[in-house]
Amino acid sequence: MARKNDRRKTVADGRKSPGAKPHAGGAGVGKRSAVAASKAAVKPVAKGGKGAAKPAAAMPPPAKVKFRGRVLENEPLARYTTYRLGGPARYVVLPADADDVAKALDLAQDRGLPWLALGLGSNVLVKDAGFPGVVIRIGKGLDRFEMKGATAIVGAGLATPLLARRTAEAGFAGVERFIGIPGTVGGGVYMNAGAHGAEFAEVLTEATVMDAKGKIKQVPRKQISFKYRSSNLGTVVVLEAKLALIEEPPAKLKEMQARLFRWRKAGTPFDQPCCGSVFKNPGGPRTAGMLIDESGLKGFTLGGAQVSPLHANYIVNTGNATASDVLKAIEHVRKTVAKKTGVELELEVKVIG
Ligand SMILES: Cc1cc2nc3c(=O)[nH]c(=O)nc-3n(C[C@H](O)[C@H](O)[C@H](O)COP(=O)(O)OP(=O)(O)OC[C@H]3O[C@@H](n4cnc5c(N)ncnc54)[C@H](O)[C@@H]3O)c2cc1C
Repeated sequence: MARKNDRRKTVADGRKSPGAKPHAGGAGVGKRSAVAASKAAVKPVAKGGKGAAKPAAAMPPPAKVKFRGRVLENEPLARYTTYRLGGPARYVVLPADADDVAKALDLAQDRGLPWLALGLGSNVLVKDAGFPGVVIRIGKGLDRFEMKGATAIVGAGLATPLLARRTAEAGFAGVERFIGIPGTVGGGVYMNAGAHGAEFAEVLTEATVMDAKGKIKQVPRKQISFKYRSSNLGTVVVLEAKLALIEEPPAKLKEMQARLFRWRKAGTPFDQPCCGSVFKNPGGPRTAGMLIDESGLKGFTLGGAQVSPLHANYIVNTGNATASDVLKAIEHVRKTVAKKTGVELELEVKVIG
């Protein structure tokens, strides 16, 4: 994907700092001695990432490490988020397997850069300056889907609507109501995504995660604490999830999905670039959307950002919004709602950079 006339390039080989310890590895992770890197200088650790390693001090002779997937340098993140805005990442790694994920973590470690796992970018707002570290985009290659009895074994990179459709077609209920959540299973587990009264916390029995050192472990459900749109999984990359489902006739599930899909189409600006709900519902009788609506903010526009006239908890990119427009609109909404209703809204969207 390296193109002429832009700043991106595919990283092919590089160096490893003497201080960087080899990762412990685990199931699915092969031996890794060093990681691909380019001529780029080591950058200081920046805020905003999940993990941040110490800067490397000196560079020994280069050791070539090949990724099965791709590594892109100075890659615009707008194309990896549903908001379609935001600046570039120092590196975007598109891993082909778990081994590549470990190599990407090594890359961050070696260069002293923060790293971040990304799914379909449907719950993130990337600042205009971008992310000065390694974005590990979990998608193809890590998108396995398998039914073993009533248990779904699912790669973190599988799109959640696909999970909902495939399980429904196979005659299993539990995630059918996630049909309109446009993220990945990994992002869904990490965020405890949910819709129409169901959430990942209810069906997950085990998550396979990789820690910042590249070690893979299976975390049983009882060790994970889920809250509304959050988990305590911490500084890990979710690789896989096991979900306990129950048998249900496919026709019934498909009919329900069609109904939910119609509801979404009518009630949310689903054809405009956005991140879904910007704020968490505060609890109590009124949703964040109701509070924003009551505060007279539907249609409020700042630059290219607009509080959707269709659903007040969606701030959409009308075409040329910058992250700064969206952040200013968020601040205006938050202050106005606090003043008019006394409720302090909390962000659901993750701000990156
Ligand atoms: C139109 C629209 C409708 C939406 N409707 C809903 C809804 O009904 N319910 C709902 O809950 N959400 C909804 N969302 C928000 C979003 O789709 C969910 O939160 C989704 O689960 C995010 O998944 P993702 O893969 O896009 O995660 P990203 O946006 O890529 O990432 C979100 C967070 O999860 C982390 N993350 C992502 N993947 C991994 C991984 N493999 N390992 C570790 N951490 C990871 C990221 O670091 C980040 O902190 C909607 C969004 C849009 C745009």
